[in-house]
Amino acid sequence: MTDNKPIDPIELTRALIRCASVTPLDDGALSLTNTTLEKLGFVTHSMTFSEDGTPDVNNLYARLGDSEPNFCFAGHTDVVPVGDAAAWKLEPFAAEIRDGILYGRGATDMKGAVAAFIAAIDIFLSKRRGLFEGSISLLITGDEEGPSINGTVKVLDWLADRGEILNHCLVGEPTNPDNLGDMIKIGRRGSLTGTLTVNGTQGHVAYPHLADNPLPRLIKILERFTGHSFDNGNEHFTRTNLEIASIDVGNPASNVIPANATALFNIRFNTEQTSDNLEEWLRTQCDEIGGDYTLNITVGAQPFLTRPGYFTDLISKAVAEVTGNKPALTTTGGTSDARFIHHYCPVAEFGLISETMHKVDEQATVSDIERLTTIYVRILESYFETTGASRQNHAS
Ligand SMILES: [Zn+2]
Repeated sequence: MTDNKPIDPIELTRALIRCASVTPLDDGALSLTNTTLEKLGFVTHSMTFSEDGTPDVNNLYARLGDSEPNFCFAGHTDVVPVGDAAAWKLEPFAAEIRDGILYGRGATDMKGAVAAFIAAIDIFLSKRRGLFEGSISLLITGDEEGPSINGTVKVLDWLADRGEILNHCLVGEPTNPDNLGDMIKIGRRGSLTGTLTVNGTQGHVAYPHLADNPLPRLIKILERFTGHSFDNGNEHFTRTNLEIASIDVGNPASNVIPANATALFNIRFNTEQTSDNLEEWLRTQCDEIGGDYTLNITVGAQPFLTRPGYFTDLISKAVAEVTGNKPALTTTGGTSDARFIHHYCPVAEFGLISETMHKVDEQATVSDIERLTTIYVRILESYFETTGASRQNHAS
């Protein structure tokens, strides 16, 4: 803090929402983050990554201090499109407050949390600047809601190339279903997507002996896929689940046997499975039913878990102190950039309320953003109170 005026997390959230940073656009959101952190004394690194076939994306890594441990806050400033703008009660990028509720795209996912990170650091430094051992850093991407190719994953590569280490990381995604303090996320299921095309021979429905209908075979295979119990889950994960997302034949004619039929499906899987074993099982089912088929598999994410211990206890305590709620430690929900970060250090996620994310009238209450700021302050305080030895003993 250079001008003695503390950073107001609400005003900073509003300023960030007013940047219409619909992925992959930035519209000033990261430069605002950058200048705010520079004022707090952070050394900042803006980086734009590009790759053929994907949009260029801006990212930011900022660090205060050069000793370890390095505590990192991670998140994103890009947002999803507003959808039907006319359906919004208030203009999605105006960041208006009504009855204690701040409305706007990104309010909860997750500009409110990015602002809370920064306001919390400001409060922490106002008491502890120069009096703590270690570093605080932020890894903020503009490519979380997009393909996530030119974002966190490349910043992490860049950090590794420089020999820069993150010791623990807290991601500020909206993790709470209903109330602040409901839930900390400590891992995530893996995600595997399959496209299965069963091939036959087109023909007249009245002459089936001259054709080969792929649909009965596709149905049999899908019956096996959906009828199978992969596992019963475990202590930290729900059971592995396969969902059929689409079945496409593209045949409008009732007198035609189609040449092929395609099904699209996704498996969310836990740590009882590996993507290789799942793929093998899927191919075995197709082979047993027989006939000509192609099965393309893409693995979007492997499952991961930060085991409950020092780091999750520290976050839980801070949440309980401020909200009075004892948060559940879960691995549910969609993917986040924590799936990349866990390769480098223990990572957990705690942010605002998830209910309105990606919806019309996305919102966060002013008091939740303020309480989230206080929680982040408590996390920083207890993290840097921990002695190196005890942190080391509980590395994850
Ligand atoms: Zn998000």
